[in-house]
Order: sequence, then C-alpha cells, then structure tokens
Amino acid sequence: TYVVTENCIRCKYMDCVNVCPVDCFYEGENMLVIHPDECIDCGVCEPECPAEAIVPDSDPAASDWINLNERYAALW
Ligand code: SF4
Repeated sequence: TYVVTENCIRCKYMDCVNVCPVDCFYEGENMLVIHPDECIDCGVCEPECPAEAIVPDSDPAASDWINLNERYAALW
C-alpha cells in the first residue's frame, strides 16, 4: 500500500485524489490519508503529488505514518 506522509500537512493540492482509480484517499485531521485495505498499489498517485508526500509503505519515510493513515482511514 501507499502512505501519505508529513509533506501533506495543510497541503491543498488534490491531484492524488483525482488520479486514484479506487478513491481510497480520505480526509485526516489536517492531511489526506490512504486507506491501506483499499489501495491497490498502482503507484499512480506518487508522481502526481506536488508535495512529494506519498511513498510506498516499504519506504523508510513511511514508517512513522503507516499507523496514522490506518487510523484516520478507519474513521470513514
Ligand atoms: Fe490510489 Fe493507486 Fe495511490 Fe493506492 S497507489 S492510493 S490505489 S492511486
């Protein structure tokens, strides 16, 4: 799955949401998150993010953010 990280905070671009084929982006408290069970790992969103906030969960930069994406996505 892909994970939204720190650079998304207060970012107002929605390019990722527009390209995601399965609509698995959700609103967190001050950033977007990706629902880990809905993401099909297509990778389309990663290069579309102007803030470079989206990384695969295998990326070390994702580790601090995996739980937060899960938690906020589960609220929907
Ligand atoms: Fe959506 Fe694909 Fe990005 Fe997953 S990797 S959030 S399915 S665009």
